[in-house]
Amino acid sequence: MDYSDLGVTPVVSAQANSTPLGSCTLSDGVIAAMANAARHQVNVDQFWDSAGRFLAKATGADAACPATGAAAGVAISVAACIVGTDLLGVQRLPDAGGRRNEVVLQKGHSISYGGAPIGQMIALGGGWAVEVGGVNETLAGHVAGAITPRTAALVYVTSTTHAVHRKGVGLDEMVAMGRERGVPVIVDAAGEEDLRGWAASGADLVIYSGPKVMGAPTSGFICGKADLIAACRAQYNGIARPMKVGKENLLGLLQAVEEFTSGSAEERAEAQRTRMTRLAERLQRIPGLPVRVLQDESGRGIFRVLMDIDGHPSGWSAERLVKELVGSTPSIYLRDFKMHLGQLEVDPRALTAEGEETVALRLEQLLGS
Ligand SMILES: *Cc1c(COP(=O)(O)O)cnc(C)c1O
Repeated sequence: MDYSDLGVTPVVSAQANSTPLGSCTLSDGVIAAMANAARHQVNVDQFWDSAGRFLAKATGADAACPATGAAAGVAISVAACIVGTDLLGVQRLPDAGGRRNEVVLQKGHSISYGGAPIGQMIALGGGWAVEVGGVNETLAGHVAGAITPRTAALVYVTSTTHAVHRKGVGLDEMVAMGRERGVPVIVDAAGEEDLRGWAASGADLVIYSGPKVMGAPTSGFICGKADLIAACRAQYNGIARPMKVGKENLLGLLQAVEEFTSGSAEERAEAQRTRMTRLAERLQRIPGLPVRVLQDESGRGIFRVLMDIDGHPSGWSAERLVKELVGSTPSIYLRDFKMHLGQLEVDPRALTAEGEETVALRLEQLLGS
């Protein structure tokens, strides 16, 4: 069976690995690992122990625990900080039963993932999100003042695309405050490329999403301090039961991590820059279209093609062009984070060579005439 048998429109994604577009496509190696997993049964406890050791080694953390994704990782981490491995506590969550359960985060970190707010994930784990500061500014004193005997954890979101970091409290300061007050710090590093730096920051738990940059199937993991990771595992007898990752996806995740860590970040960045430079050169031939290659604002090794659409002599606006591209077959999704500025981008990360050709041809057709 294939998507086309169901009449589902094919998609070309120049938006990177977005969840609403089915996350990422998988390498042949990852698909083979998933097929291997699918053909055999396995002792799941033993498999998870080994997977945890593999992921701990890849991240430099003491220990690690698989998850279905980063959102699940947040719920599980919060639950672990509230009840630890206490079996009755595990069973009663998300009712924290009078245990300390406040989870402090900066207002600028109170993000949502495609509509689902992080506060809801915290609540699923039995926590109560306490947001401090303002949307555009939070001081260390705001966080420090919110830490009380009711505080179970501090949460820090790394993502510069979603969270506001300007005039916020840095992770080092959060970790220092957590240490001083004996409160664990949870880092949501869902889309980060650096698998070691966040765990090395002194944070107690660090959460990753498998499909975001690593090229894994729907999956994720939590890494960090051994006692808290044991507590995360314990939640699979409680709130994490409906969030369990299948053996196929877990083996696929491990293979993807292996492939990801065997390449260097510099090589990946350079390959993207070369590829996007070539595409930009092609698109520059469309009369009147300003095109540039731009590195990701946060300094990550991601290079994209940026086009100024508003004001183009063809009369297209960025907004109208997006509608037209999404409505065509295949349905083409450009990165629209800068649409309010009249700009659209091509992100190479989820774009196949065939998809890139489709994008270029369609833009030439629409803007070139
Ligand atoms: C995408 C994202 C998530 C959700 O990840 P899933 O693996 O899809 O659950 C969580 N946090 C941040 C910062 C994200 O960017």
